[in-house]
Amino acid sequence: MFPFFSYIHRPFSIFLLLLLLFPPPLPATDIPFSAAGEVIDFNPNNTWHTFMRFLDAGKGSRPDGMADLKRYFRRFGYLPIPPENLNFTDAFDDEFEQALFAYQKNLGLSETGKLDFNTMSVIVSPRCGVGDFTDGGGGEHGLKTTRRFAFFYGQPRWVQSAPMMLTYAFSPTYVIDYVGMPEIRAAFARAFERWSAAIPVNFTEAEEYSTADIRIGWYSGDHGDGEAFDGRLGVLAHAFSPENGRFHLDAAERWAVDFDEEKSKAAIDLESVATHEIGHVLGLAHSSVKEAIMYPSLSPRTKKLELRMDDVEGIQSLYGSNPNFRYDSRLESDLSSGRGIVSERSEGLMWSVMAMAVVAWIVNNFTRISN
Ligand SMILES: [Zn+2]
Ligand SMILES: [Zn+2]
Repeated sequence: MFPFFSYIHRPFSIFLLLLLLFPPPLPATDIPFSAAGEVIDFNPNNTWHTFMRFLDAGKGSRPDGMADLKRYFRRFGYLPIPPENLNFTDAFDDEFEQALFAYQKNLGLSETGKLDFNTMSVIVSPRCGVGDFTDGGGGEHGLKTTRRFAFFYGQPRWVQSAPMMLTYAFSPTYVIDYVGMPEIRAAFARAFERWSAAIPVNFTEAEEYSTADIRIGWYSGDHGDGEAFDGRLGVLAHAFSPENGRFHLDAAERWAVDFDEEKSKAAIDLESVATHEIGHVLGLAHSSVKEAIMYPSLSPRTKKLELRMDDVEGIQSLYGSNPNFRYDSRLESDLSSGRGIVSERSEGLMWSVMAMAVVAWIVNNFTRISN
């Protein structure tokens, strides 16, 4: 279900550790790759993949082009705009370190203040264009809580009287032509249904686009709302907080409703992104729980469809519970496992120990052979 973190990434981290200890002679910078290590045809306008060259850059250093990484942090809410007539510098300074700590906390990473591999992997991953700004939520950051959901400033929500019925419609103009409209409609209907199963809000598709509550369209580059899209990968989509209803997808992505049919290595699952953006439309900001729908990043060729306990608690604290809402086995396991920072950290530790054991074994045997 979550191949990036659960299956590919950890074994891959062992591989990377070995690579760091026994580096190949060629420079390994500037190679675009996905979490699975595949080479991907990035749009040249999207520079995120080049950030990997800052891996392990330390405080006090001045790597060429670090200002671009600062602009990335600025974009997602971690650095203030530089004072007038000044630009970001390439210096890894105190302010950047603080931004990095905040980013790691928000993205559920180990708070090292360093550009370590796990942090860089998330930074270069495709993600939602909505910034990681929050206004409270469940996140009392105690160790055993599973609650990491968050709201937008002012905690806006839709305020129609009950029973609440929101309409959505697809732009007649801003569409993609390589996926059939019936498949797109079905994917969105399922995505809306997941949220309405948790809260007393119904969603129906409307014919008339201009008067629908939620207006969905695919846009390229600068499309007039101050949040320009950036070509293939990078930012995937964004949506506005209640009761705005604008829901925009980056037309430059290769959108997929079925990975058996869509073979592109950069394909992005439409239904997963739709489910995430509907969370924003309803008033949820980003969560730091990696498994949650409201976590900001999503790897290519990955499906992430089901609401997790964190998403359910977040949305129900805004709208109350659907009287027919039932905990399924996944949600019950979230509840009983206290799925949160504790288990993630202990799993991370387990993988680190195993990686070190493998390295020790290899070094040991290598030493014996060479003796
Ligand atoms: Zn988002
Ligand atoms: Zn937009």
